[in-house]
Amino acid sequence: MPIVHDWLARRAALDPDHAALVDSTRGSRRITYREWDGAASRTAAYLHHVLGVQRGDRVAVLAHNCVETLDLLFACAKLGAILQPLNWRLSTTELVGILADAEPAVLVYGPELRAQVDTVRARAPFVRHWLGLAEPDPAERSFITERDAAPASSLPVLELEAESPWVLCYTGGSTGVPKAAVLTHGSVTANAVNTVVSWGLTSDDVAVLNAPLFHTGGLNVFTLPLVYVGGASVVCKGFDVEQVFELIHQREVSLVFGVPTMFIEMQRHARFESADFSHLKLLVSGGAPCPLSVFERFFTKGVAFKTGYGLTEAGPNNFWLPPSDVRRKPGFVGVPLFHVEARIEDERQPGDVGELLLRGPHVCAGYWRRPEETARTFVGGWLRTGDLALRDGDGCFRIVGRSKDLIISGGENIYPSEVESVLSGHPDVAEVAVIGVPDAKWGETPRALVVLRGGASLTAESLLAFCDGRLARYKMPRSVRFVEALPRTSAGKVDRRALASAHSLA
Ligand code: AMP
Repeated sequence: MPIVHDWLARRAALDPDHAALVDSTRGSRRITYREWDGAASRTAAYLHHVLGVQRGDRVAVLAHNCVETLDLLFACAKLGAILQPLNWRLSTTELVGILADAEPAVLVYGPELRAQVDTVRARAPFVRHWLGLAEPDPAERSFITERDAAPASSLPVLELEAESPWVLCYTGGSTGVPKAAVLTHGSVTANAVNTVVSWGLTSDDVAVLNAPLFHTGGLNVFTLPLVYVGGASVVCKGFDVEQVFELIHQREVSLVFGVPTMFIEMQRHARFESADFSHLKLLVSGGAPCPLSVFERFFTKGVAFKTGYGLTEAGPNNFWLPPSDVRRKPGFVGVPLFHVEARIEDERQPGDVGELLLRGPHVCAGYWRRPEETARTFVGGWLRTGDLALRDGDGCFRIVGRSKDLIISGGENIYPSEVESVLSGHPDVAEVAVIGVPDAKWGETPRALVVLRGGASLTAESLLAFCDGRLARYKMPRSVRFVEALPRTSAGKVDRRALASAHSLA
């Protein structure tokens, strides 16, 4: 497949004065495609001529969302270098581990992460250049100052292929040792095509970019597809519910992506009832199962609220639920997108639950420097997602949960998402997670960790009485714990590993 490796230059040639970014971290500065392409080209020239970055070298960035990360992303694309965006919530040991994994030549860090950087410096000798993103500080080298002072020079002429790596997207941080999915120029392009076509994105669209850029949610849901089509992103440091309401109120955005937790927070906010969502084109929830009650509350606001299903290895967008099915098939993710093949392992008839397998040009090239894990996960061209799913008689898919989270109680399968969906329908429940706890008789039984809505008082007995008739008896939680909040991963999802270690004992 012939590819355009320099999307920005192409976009800037087509739409130079069209807004590309709105930098909400610096007074909503508007950046056109011409300006952004200029900044990315200057960054590439600086990386190459001053810092010596060559094709295939890794460039790491440890920062909250900012425009400079996006400059580095496209500078890497222009040079055939590989961006390694780092998750700032990793422990020092994990950070040292993933730095050693990719051996970046350059590391650019945000000012608020300097202390963290100082703890890893001595253990990452391969990093030749450490550059801060703070305003000039005599105590450190400044990426912005050095880049802006570098002479403009031409870049090497490149012939990249679809298989050429572009981004190392780390995954597994909340479930195991982080490993990097190698996103290639081809896989990112195929994801963008799928997204633009299935969600009907246009150059008029503007998305809130508040999911972290080190995660496929920040990078691939809207940000890159919008460059592909010439739309714009409002760059936000992170998720701030007030800011989202403000952007919606000012009619600044047409697209909002979030993990379910973000939408739950929006619904709990005082501004939800009076907010006017009428100009929004699409709200997309992804990254974890979203309770049906959340969909229903957004539907009452007359807004298109959809589920995106994906994973780091295959991009965030693999299925599409036709509008006529949105209310008819709540909880379903839909049919595979144009360039996506999906199947359920060992499926004999509609409704059978099995591991979801995906194939297509949007699937990454495997894990960076991990041939065994790559061979185990990418089998015969199919990606083993580790998720359990079913397909109904119309070919519509529903994700029932991660196979690791499946609770097996007395030989029966219990999918936490199903139990969570029922419990979260109780009006006093703000949020809930269900985990399996060891049980001498049943092997495992479900335990519910429940966050109540402000001011609500609810007993375990009345919550279980609410489940009666809504859930089969064997799926009913055997214990309920009321908690202040659920732990989160850096992508904002419920951190099930942390929950299990805190709550799986009696
Ligand atoms: P990540 O690689 O961090 O993006 O995590 C991907 C995982 O999130 C998937 O393998 C699923 O377990 C989960 N996930 C993503 N989207 C959904 C969804 N719409 N419904 C249920 N689980 C989801």
